[in-house]
Amino acid sequence: MKEAGQMQNLESARAGRSVSTQTDSMTGQIPRLSKVNLFTLLSLWMELFPAVEAQRQKSQVKKTGLVVVKNMKIIDLHCSSEDLHAGKIALIKHGSRLKNCDLYFSRKPCSACLKMIVNAGVNRISYWPADPEISLLSEASSSEDAKLDAKAVERLKSNSRAHVCVLLQPLVCYMMQFVEETSYKCDFIQKIAKTFPDANTDFYSKCRQERVKEYEMLFLISNEELHKQILMTIGLENLCENPYFSNLRQNMKDLILLLATVASSVPNFEHYGFYCGSTEQINEIHNQCLPQEIARHCMVQARLLAYRTEDHKIGVGAVIWAERKSQNCDGTGMMYFIGCGYNAFPVGSEYADFPNMDDKQKDREIRKFRYIVHAEQNALTFRCQEIKPEEKSMIFVTKCPCDECVPLIKGAGIKQIYTGDIDVGKKKADISYMRFGELEGISKFTWQLNPSGSCVLEQNEPESKENGVVRPIPLNEELHQNKKLCLGNH
Ligand SMILES: [Zn+2]
Ligand SMILES: [Zn+2]
Repeated sequence: MKEAGQMQNLESARAGRSVSTQTDSMTGQIPRLSKVNLFTLLSLWMELFPAVEAQRQKSQVKKTGLVVVKNMKIIDLHCSSEDLHAGKIALIKHGSRLKNCDLYFSRKPCSACLKMIVNAGVNRISYWPADPEISLLSEASSSEDAKLDAKAVERLKSNSRAHVCVLLQPLVCYMMQFVEETSYKCDFIQKIAKTFPDANTDFYSKCRQERVKEYEMLFLISNEELHKQILMTIGLENLCENPYFSNLRQNMKDLILLLATVASSVPNFEHYGFYCGSTEQINEIHNQCLPQEIARHCMVQARLLAYRTEDHKIGVGAVIWAERKSQNCDGTGMMYFIGCGYNAFPVGSEYADFPNMDDKQKDREIRKFRYIVHAEQNALTFRCQEIKPEEKSMIFVTKCPCDECVPLIKGAGIKQIYTGDIDVGKKKADISYMRFGELEGISKFTWQLNPSGSCVLEQNEPESKENGVVRPIPLNEELHQNKKLCLGNH
């Protein structure tokens, strides 16, 4: 079996590495994403947030994803809307609170965005070095404007105190291999594999290939000469010489491949999605499920976060969003970001402070379970917004919340949980998942085959909301989209 072979390679690779600290200063025992990698990947992913309105496809302005970071913690996720670029949205939402923040853009921002965020006193602006926000790829008559804008951006950059740069870190050793293995093993793929034993890994690799192609089109300029020209226009001529240029492209390709791999771990496959078991729950409008593509998008955010775990056995990621009652200026429609986290030892811990053993070791006292702060707990602790009782708030967790976390989620006033149910009802030596099943008063959407064709589909059909925030998708169209393997992810 291919999987087993890969795992062996990884094990031997791990054995060869020295054991070092699990905290930020050094690499842990399993490959971890660096924070910069995580922010970069999330910025690309936010660019792909499912369009809640018809985007201006033909326009020269490209949709941009943006991650706002303060003290190395994510405080917001944005994407451009029909009317506003991501940078402007961040400015409207945070104003001068952007001071000292680091901003990670999926494209080099235009001069209008840049002058405002520089003015707000940001610390650093990092961007993905491909086609900028005002596209230099389009051959429209206005491409002269694009060049003028690029010049203005350069001038703003050189005269600003903020550090405007390309922060691309190469992935650590074995990272890609590890992400491939764990993506295949994650709850979502495993659930499908169990239901369709014949499907094997084919559907997963097929989905992944499609994603890679799609994202390379979007985030990598296939023609190398054209890429060089763009780099020169946006002031990166120093990256145009080899080996810098080929290194840059290799780095970009690796990150794109990683993103595609993680995105395929929550695939648009057949009638799989996040569904609620109980029909009475979903009858209330307040409890209605998000459109599937948005739920999948948020779960992939959580999956990316899981690769920052400090637990060398299992990475878990969690992200909390909420829905405003009225139109939001963000490209995310009515949704806005509340907080995110992954499982880790308490902030400030050093490697030797806590045990790393799991339940295979006999002595309970030296096991890690009493020390690891769970992803949900970190997301709640480091949230950047209050959870308002009158709003629909939702948490996306890559694994079913355990008995320790379930009452916390409920106590925090979160209205919906999106997760996998592979562990539900299981009791392990130090961690159990008994309470999730009995949990009441919160809508639980678990990854499963659509439980009953028409009835539930109707409930989950994105409804037409005021202001056209959520574009209604005709039922048959959504069905059709679902039939196409992994297509129509956004
Ligand atoms: Zn802009
Ligand atoms: Zn937990």
